[in-house]
Amino acid sequence: SDGLESLLDGQLAYYRARAPEYDEVYGERAFRSLTDLVDELPVGGDVLELACGTGQWTVRLAGRADHLTAVDGAPEMLDIARRRVEAAGLTATFEQRDLFSWRPQARYDTVFFAFWLSHVPPQRFAAFWAAVAGAVRPGGRVVFVDTDAAERLTERAAPGDRATVLRRLKDGSEHEVVKLFHDAAVLAADLAKLGWTAQVDPADGGFIRGVARLTDR
Ligand code: SAM
Repeated sequence: SDGLESLLDGQLAYYRARAPEYDEVYGERAFRSLTDLVDELPVGGDVLELACGTGQWTVRLAGRADHLTAVDGAPEMLDIARRRVEAAGLTATFEQRDLFSWRPQARYDTVFFAFWLSHVPPQRFAAFWAAVAGAVRPGGRVVFVDTDAAERLTERAAPGDRATVLRRLKDGSEHEVVKLFHDAAVLAADLAKLGWTAQVDPADGGFIRGVARLTDR
């Protein structure tokens, strides 16, 4: 293999180690009110959140959903997210899953993910969206938020051509993670080839927001 499996394992290990310091990014100006976006997006019904992290979006989604199921691969992230939702007096179901082998067991009106798509390598893009298709009810939609192409300037590219960047944690350890800088128009076109009708737009502050529906449903 080309080492993709070990790269993806390393990416999850990085996020497990980062969980206690992850929320600091939400103190930065660009992120501080970003989760307000949820209220502008078509989120409702039974909601599935993928790669929920520490629950910054989860807590907002829980207030909008009839029922929310939140999935992440890192138990350390799920613990923080669970506490955040409970502290808000809300409820959600949490599940630990590896999204690169995950196959949905149920269908939802809304499938949501924030800052996850940019960590899905090109080789897994189609398989990921095929799995997502299996989680969407007829008439349902996928809603996502991510960094835009300009974000490239804020990251350190890793050597090689794997679309990866280097990240450092507070303990000094350095980690290579997948990071794609999706352009809104290119992403919408890529999704169209996979059978999705997607509207992907720039959002304030260097982000993109997307809403995708299966074209034939
Ligand atoms: N959605 C959250 C947010 O917007 O704050 C977290 C986004 S964070 C950039 C990426 C998340 O993906 C982390 O919580 C990490 O644990 C999770 N993750 C990484 N690899 C994963 C995998 N293979 N399966 C499931 N989750 C994974």
